Amino acid sequence: MTAGPMVIVFLGPPGAGKGTQAARLAADLSLVKISTGDILRDHVARGTELGRKVAPIMERGELVPDELILAIIREELSRMKEVRAIFDGFPRTTRQAEALDELLAELRAPVNATVLLEVPEEELIRRMLKRAELEGRADDNEETIRRRLEVYRQQTQPLIDYYSARGVLKRVDGVGDPGQVYCRIREVI
Ligand code: ADP
Repeated sequence: MTAGPMVIVFLGPPGAGKGTQAARLAADLSLVKISTGDILRDHVARGTELGRKVAPIMERGELVPDELILAIIREELSRMKEVRAIFDGFPRTTRQAEALDELLAELRAPVNATVLLEVPEEELIRRMLKRAELEGRADDNEETIRRRLEVYRQQTQPLIDYYSARGVLKRVDGVGDPGQVYCRIREVI
């Protein structure tokens, strides 16, 4: 017996805890977590051509061009025999969301659910500044954090309506300890 295709998208502002929660859900549901941020950071760390191109963009807190992101996603999906994926940090623009729908239509695997993690802005900034101390991510400084939040509002927030119109949006309160937040996610997934 096969489990069948399954696609979950994690949506929410930077610092909302998408990566942490997506990893846990992926493990529990036997899905592959695809984090565009992690993939890009890996390229930067390895100094690949792509990494050299995106490093300054990421340091400014801007979005990497859609075409580069979509090439990454196409490659990740092409590696799967059956699509069972959780996307973390993708899609981030309407163009990316539309392209994902097209790719998934070809693979006959629609987006089953979109989890929107909601966290107030002061809490997001607090979390990212704390993460800066622990992990030293180049884009976790106050100026870049503010820019990332602005980019989120302008370019990614419209996706809330996009997925809401498709009836797949699940709003989850992202404030609390990670275990608590995960329980809330499991109530809707
Ligand atoms: P966060 O959600 O905390 O900002 P991510 O790891 O998801 O962290 O993203 C870090 C950076 O990587 C973004 O600011 C952006 O420059 C780049 N990035 C990641 N995913 C995408 C995407 N889907 N489209 C464009 N840029 C992306």
